[in-house]
Amino acid sequence: MFEKVKPPEEGEKIRFEDGKLIVPDNPVIPYIVGDGIGVDVVPAAITVLSEAAEKIGKEIVWFEIYAGEKAYKLYGDYLPEDTLRAIREFRVALKGPLTTPVGGGYRSLNVTIRQVLDLYACVRPVYYLKGVPSPIKNPEKVDIVIFRETTEDVYAGIEWPRGSEEALKLMDFLEREFGVRIRKDSGIGIKPISEFATKRIVRLAIRYSIENGRKSVTLVHKGNIMKFTEGAFREWGYEVAKEEFGDYVITEEELWNDYGGEVPEGKIVIKDRIADNMFQQLLTRTEEYDVIVTPNLNGDYLSDMAAGLVGGLGIAPGSNIREDMGVFEPVHGSAPKYAGQNKVNPTAMILTGALMFEFLGWKEGAELIKKAVEMTIQQRIVTYDIHRHVGGTLVGTKEFAKAVVENLHSL
Ligand code: NAP
Repeated sequence: MFEKVKPPEEGEKIRFEDGKLIVPDNPVIPYIVGDGIGVDVVPAAITVLSEAAEKIGKEIVWFEIYAGEKAYKLYGDYLPEDTLRAIREFRVALKGPLTTPVGGGYRSLNVTIRQVLDLYACVRPVYYLKGVPSPIKNPEKVDIVIFRETTEDVYAGIEWPRGSEEALKLMDFLEREFGVRIRKDSGIGIKPISEFATKRIVRLAIRYSIENGRKSVTLVHKGNIMKFTEGAFREWGYEVAKEEFGDYVITEEELWNDYGGEVPEGKIVIKDRIADNMFQQLLTRTEEYDVIVTPNLNGDYLSDMAAGLVGGLGIAPGSNIREDMGVFEPVHGSAPKYAGQNKVNPTAMILTGALMFEFLGWKEGAELIKKAVEMTIQQRIVTYDIHRHVGGTLVGTKEFAKAVVENLHSL
């Protein structure tokens, strides 16, 4: 079945039956070390996750698969079919960062993985861990989950360079058919946003909010300018909320007119904000936001900014999911200048693992991991990124993970 990798003989597959993920106590979980600091953070996270699993009576049977430079050496291909097949087959994978060349070179492997596997939701929780330095006064007020659509928008990869036959042909067509003139020295990109993709991610976000007792879902868009893409995202979002979750959701208008501004028990407020406003709202009225759902580009910017509020990229976990499959990766990239130095913070990668535990239904394990990380930071055992702001005992990636494991044992 696989060309160059061999799945472990022990362990069982995660299955998806009758709309539910069936997770055995000893799942096989493929992992990708990835490029740059992947060699530092992935092994560190695996150590912590294996221990956390054991603590709740489970065993993860790890299975290494390849993407990026390591895959190129082994397969002559940056994203071999073996890797995609393993993720499809085993359903859940842990992934380190992958380098993407800017401008030319190959297309982003991260984007390709999401699109080929139709992992349409990039879900990034952003919450504060006590002891982490933050640029804002009350970082503990940040507790949001961003649902970013990842198959469409200007990231869909429909673009042609300046002067290419395709770009020129398209410009001719637009001018001839619609009288639209574009400067001939333009590169061209296309921004599709569909009803189908919008509704399925808003549906996922609302369902998540109901299951996790969240209070509001905010649609973030730039619909004042891009009316038929971003504006439509907003319209379709409200539509799915009203048509499919009418018993659970109320609009902001109803909140004020009918409920005096207090969200009634068991209800979720659905609201929308224009993206530029949202950036300042998250800073100034942080606690008013809970679950956020947004198209691809807004979501990309917003997630990094939100991560910055609670301590930066070294802390921020992420996932790319659909109902029956998930690839779990930190928000940060491969930070090549620090690769292999046992220096960077593995927290983002470890908390990414906690997110994976939640997806597997191992909530107790996820909580243990979060607590152990928080304890470690509060003991001021920190990597350089935190140390430069608050001091404490400066440790490397491995040593930080070791301290987290020790704290796990004490819980
Ligand atoms: P980056 O790799 O995320 O690094 C940017 C900066 O963030 C680092 O220089 C460092 O800041 C800080 N940082 C990131 N990870 C950290 C960690 N674990 N601990 C402590 N600090 C950390 O972003 P980039 O330099 O823009 O991108 C590098 C490559 O990664 C690019 O090829 C990009 O395309 C790719 N990328 C991949 C993914 C992915 O795989 N999903 C995501 C984003 C980017 P200081 O130097 O200030 O300490």
